[in-house]
Amino acid sequence: MIHIYDELCSYCGSCIAVCPENIIDLIDLHLEIDQPKCTHCAKCIKGCPVGALAMEYRDKIYYPEYEGRGLF
Ligand code: SF4
Ligand code: SF4
Repeated sequence: MIHIYDELCSYCGSCIAVCPENIIDLIDLHLEIDQPKCTHCAKCIKGCPVGALAMEYRDKIYYPEYEGRGLF
């Protein structure tokens, strides 16, 4: 699933624009992702300018674009 760091999100909408499945929504200043429909393409993670998204699998977080920047 996609993990959202709400505190980092600037609500720019980039992830919404790049998601090929069109399953990301901004509702009341909170990002909602229809997780069961996610294909794990990671386009939203790479498209986020502030690193507010990461891939989460079996309680582990994979953060390819921002690894080593000390965010977690
Ligand atoms: S990983 Fe791909 S399908 Fe899943 S929410 Fe992100 S852009 Fe959409
Ligand atoms: S691209 Fe990143 S900062 Fe922009 S709305 Fe999506 S999660 Fe938030």
